[in-house]
Amino acid sequence: MGQDLKAENLTISVPNLGCDKNCPYCVSRMTGYVTNNFPRMLRNCKKVIHVARAAEVTSVLFTGKGEPTLAYRELTSLARLFNFWPLELQTNGIGLAAGDDSLLKGLYDAGFDVIAVSVDTAGQLDACRELFSRIRDAGLLSRITVNITDLLGDVTFPSLLDYCRQTGISQLTLRRIVTPENPKDMKTADWIADNVDDNDYRSLMEQARLYVSEQGKLIRTLNHGVEVYDCGGVSFSYSDYCIQERNRGDNIRSLVFLEDGHLYTSWNSASSILF
Ligand code: SF4
Repeated sequence: MGQDLKAENLTISVPNLGCDKNCPYCVSRMTGYVTNNFPRMLRNCKKVIHVARAAEVTSVLFTGKGEPTLAYRELTSLARLFNFWPLELQTNGIGLAAGDDSLLKGLYDAGFDVIAVSVDTAGQLDACRELFSRIRDAGLLSRITVNITDLLGDVTFPSLLDYCRQTGISQLTLRRIVTPENPKDMKTADWIADNVDDNDYRSLMEQARLYVSEQGKLIRTLNHGVEVYDCGGVSFSYSDYCIQERNRGDNIRSLVFLEDGHLYTSWNSASSILF
């Protein structure tokens, strides 16, 4: 382990108890699965905190190879151990939308700050309206991550900003859907080849750039070059390559604490294990 290992964040993949959505572009299917070992996760938490502090991470993201809220007990238990950092939960929002407010209250009490909900269709945007106001009422910030495929239809950048303002969403992220190197599931990779047109992502990004040049302002640039803008009260960012495979030197985007209880520097490489 390099002494100068630096990371922007720590990403924790909670035990995988499956997923209640079946995204045809699912990155988990392409990067493969590991065996859950929650006792080992608990055992190694102190070591992970030690390394994450030395690496100067500034936030902790909770996600999963499945839907993290299906492992609600494990999710909130882990959050309590890391909640001296800002915490973000990445979810498909289905369980939170269907469940009562006690789920959101439990996330707040465990220390979460931001609930990031991924959507990929205009219908899901509509279905999530109420959830976003409930997230706000629970004292949490919300982010919407829009996955760009041909499922999305005619959504424009200004219409997404309007949606955020109407529903009280504070952060908007556009996510380019990509295939990792050596995908483990070719059906998913083939779906992406047939249904993801990079021009759709580029077109939305061009609309975003135009908006930013006229009405937005740069808030900050993250270590890996991604910029964050203020677009009339909504923070806008983007993710063009979300699967961390290669890192240059000792400066990495995420430390990855997987559900097998081991700490890695990459999602997609067993050999990136640190301990
Ligand atoms: S919500 Fe996430 S884990 Fe579930 S199918 Fe979609 S991409 Fe895969």
